[in-house]
Formats: sequence, structure tokens, C-alpha cells
Amino acid sequence: MDITQLLSKSAKKAENGSVAEPKTLPSIKKPNGGRCKVTGSHLVSCLPPKDDFKAFFEEHLQNDNKKIKVAAFDMDDTLICTRSGIKFGRGPHDWKFRTDTILPVLQQKIAVERYLMVIFTNQGSISVSENLTQTSKSYRNFTIKITQILTALDTTLKGAPVLVFAASGRPGRSHTMRSGEEEHFHTRKPQTGMWEALETYLRGALGDEYEVDMEKSLYVGDAAGREGDHLADDRNFAKNVGLYYEVPEDFFLE
Ligand SMILES: [Mg+2]
Repeated sequence: MDITQLLSKSAKKAENGSVAEPKTLPSIKKPNGGRCKVTGSHLVSCLPPKDDFKAFFEEHLQNDNKKIKVAAFDMDDTLICTRSGIKFGRGPHDWKFRTDTILPVLQQKIAVERYLMVIFTNQGSISVSENLTQTSKSYRNFTIKITQILTALDTTLKGAPVLVFAASGRPGRSHTMRSGEEEHFHTRKPQTGMWEALETYLRGALGDEYEVDMEKSLYVGDAAGREGDHLADDRNFAKNVGLYYEVPEDFFLE
């Protein structure tokens, strides 16, 4: 199936059936991947400055019903997989988009249908706290990788921002600004802490007037509790948040 066929198949899934040509959207200040930040030791986020996001939103996503359509994704084994084929990869460069259908489907959803793209990823192997970011190799590797992924997505998405939230693991005792067990637990999927962090960011950038459109928003992730899946964290995360859920194979038309 070529890209045109894919897009037309994907377009049929769009609510109105009418699909505009992807237009070039003026980019917000790039790259948003360079702006990773650590909260306590439980959350890593890579977000555009709120003013830049607000400007983008007002120009491209705003609509009369004051609702934001979110298309959210797990990262590993949903959007990307390792290039080497090894489960956990060999460093920050060992990744690729998982199938050829990922980019065209994302282009349709994000650049054409104007959903806001968000990534929610459990990254228990990142050990970092906000005052010790310089000494954490796992955090540095993650920022390198996420910057590469966001840069690779940028052309496809016509400059639309991608918001990234990662639940990091509990670091060692040398980290003085460690978050508590409860914060780590609540941030990790299938708990809803990362979704709440998204809502806080959106409120901070856009004010109370806007809310996520829970009817139209969706979440895609591979941990569905199927035979062969070792977890159902993605399916349960969507359920806990109250989002429509699809497995990657369906969403990405594989
Ligand atoms: Mg996954």
C-alpha cells in the first residue's frame, strides 16, 4: 500500500470525511526537544515555552467549542522500535520509526485533522532528579533520543509541536531532590499522573477557558494485555483517563 492509499484509508476514518491538503504551518521556535525538564525525580517533560505554544494554538488549533483534540501515544514499540532489534536498544541512536505507515498516518491526524500530538512514556530506566541532571547518563541519553525523534517528526507534522511526558524511575539515595514513592507510582502508566501534567501545562499556556475534548481525543499504545503483551498498561491508562483506545496495529493501518 503506498502513501496515497494509506492517507485515503486514514481519511475515511476522519469524522467528517472532508480532508484538507496538508498546509505548511509556521513552526514555533524549534526544537522543542531541547527543552527537557525534570520535576522532582518522577517526571521528565519536553515542552515548548507556553507563549510559543499559545501562539501556535491560536493560529492553528483553536476552534469555537474551546476544546482541544488530543492524539496521544506510547513511545516504545508503538511509534518507534530499536534499529538493532535488541529489546532495550544500544544507546540513544538505536531507534527507528516502527513501520512505514507511522509518518503518513501521523501527518493525516496531526497536520491535517489538527490534533495535538502528545507522547506518554514509562521510562523506568531513567534515573535523574532536578538538581542532578548533569550527572545522569540515562537522562542525557533520553534527551538526545527524544530530540532526534522530534526533529524527525517535525517535517512530517509541518512544524506542529509534540508534547512529551516521561515517567522516570526512582533514583538512588544520592539524589537529594527525590520524589516520594507515591509520586513515582502515580506518574507511571497505567496511573494518570502524566495526563494530569498535560492538563496543568495546557491550563498554564491557554488558561481555564479551554479543555481537552474527551469525546474526540484518543490514546494508542502497544501494552494491551493481549496474548504476547507482557502488560496492559496502555489499555488501562486510556481507561483510567477516560480516553478512546486503539492498538498501534489498528491506528497505524498495518
Ligand atoms: Mg510500549
